[in-house]
Amino acid sequence: MIVMKFGGSSLADVERLRAAVALVLAAKGRTPCIVLSAMANTTDALLAAAGAAEQNEADALNRAAAPFRHAREVAAAALSDSQAVQALVAKLEEEVLVLLRGVALLRELTARTSDAIVAHGERVATALFTAMLQDHGLDVTELDAREVVRTDDRFGRARPDFPTICELADRRINRSTRAGRIVVTQGYVGATAQGFTTTLGRGGSDWSAALLAAALGAEELQIWTDVEGVLSADPRTVAAARPVPVLSAAEAAELAAFGARVLHPATIQPAIEAGIAVTVRHTLKPHGQFTTIDPRRRHDRRGVAALAHRGPVIVLTMTSTRMLASAGYLARLFEVFGRLDICVDLVVTAEVSVACTVEPDAPLEQLVRALEGLARVEIARDCAIVAAVGEGLQQTPGTVERACRALHPITPQLVGMGGNARNMSLVVKQSEVDEAMRRLHAEFFSPPAGAANSDQIAEGATS
Ligand code: ADP
Ligand code: ASP
Ligand code: MG
Repeated sequence: MIVMKFGGSSLADVERLRAAVALVLAAKGRTPCIVLSAMANTTDALLAAAGAAEQNEADALNRAAAPFRHAREVAAAALSDSQAVQALVAKLEEEVLVLLRGVALLRELTARTSDAIVAHGERVATALFTAMLQDHGLDVTELDAREVVRTDDRFGRARPDFPTICELADRRINRSTRAGRIVVTQGYVGATAQGFTTTLGRGGSDWSAALLAAALGAEELQIWTDVEGVLSADPRTVAAARPVPVLSAAEAAELAAFGARVLHPATIQPAIEAGIAVTVRHTLKPHGQFTTIDPRRRHDRRGVAALAHRGPVIVLTMTSTRMLASAGYLARLFEVFGRLDICVDLVVTAEVSVACTVEPDAPLEQLVRALEGLARVEIARDCAIVAAVGEGLQQTPGTVERACRALHPITPQLVGMGGNARNMSLVVKQSEVDEAMRRLHAEFFSPPAGAANSDQIAEGATS
């Protein structure tokens, strides 16, 4: 069996939905388990409506109505008889409106309520898609992901309880797929042991799909989206970006962590640990190019495989003469970050200073106060990380020099190389990041260098 995940972009309108249905029809011999995100813009609209309700803004309920209206219009156009789906969508909409009225009355939006609201987007998508598949005479079961995807109670960014997911998936999904039935379920959504709805963080349906693929021992995890695989850079920034046919699992994980939104950063891990190949494909161009990330392949050294960027981030420079030859100093410093639950990305150390990047929502005032006595802290806001990723990048001579030359006159404020063998990270000003990406892409992907980039991975070999 395989797991096929369709993102919001693949469910945006009747044409795309039909294309997705055709792909499932073509794969029906492999008894797919289908994992769906909400239709495009739905999650944004529901979150905006929840925020507006908290402020008691007059148009909060209207904002939430738009995605449900769109789903009903699509259902009417896509189904031979849409009555049952129309009724279900109306019921889900009514539930959201009740929750929003509660938020407006209390003027309070907790992460738990936000999750309960936003999960309705995925539920609409699975109801509609299941009906479309049934219209084609397929034997399909719609499964509420909350019955399988058990998580902790960190609402808004819940962490999965994988052993329990395996047990539940075996009971609720395997039985159906073994009988040749297609299962359709929601990505992004889970539930606590008490049954409270949770979500896995934005873009989390990739992660759901990977967890289910691993739990079910799938042959393949297919991520269907609106690009021909993982591209050499974010195509919204670099028009010349092109598909990367093969990525190692580590490269893919690095790219996702550094902002390649085509894959959720946690996606790769469960699939890779279970030895499952992940492919990233274009729903409207199923015969076009695509990316394969296969943990069973051996990957040799190559140059830059792809670029990614992420911003804004904040650069903190912490200086103290006590750092000189003081054992345990860095441990004490970063213990403070841990206590405040602040994630650190890039770290560069010098004799008496350490620079690192953190997310813009980090509690900086608290951090600076907590670091008093340990280090003086300088804060640079509006920075961005540009990362070049490729197996063996560290051993490729001249990479940093080429990057710095290509960037000129943009001067990176931090350069990190060698944290692992496959990543070079540069920090630039947020205002310069688009230009920096285009320059680096031109340097590392202009032909003929690009021709050599894609094919240096040994195919078929085992590691
Ligand atoms: P989906 O709705 O299918 O989950 P997303 O919008 O989450 O789709 O992810 C696909 C988008 O990711 C692409 O349309 C593209 O704009 C963006 N993206 C960013 N970096 C990359 C990259 N390196 N390769 C491909 N797409 C990328
Ligand atoms: N619908 C969710 C989001 O927009 C999850 C996903 O798309 O993966 O973040
Ligand atoms: Mg996505």
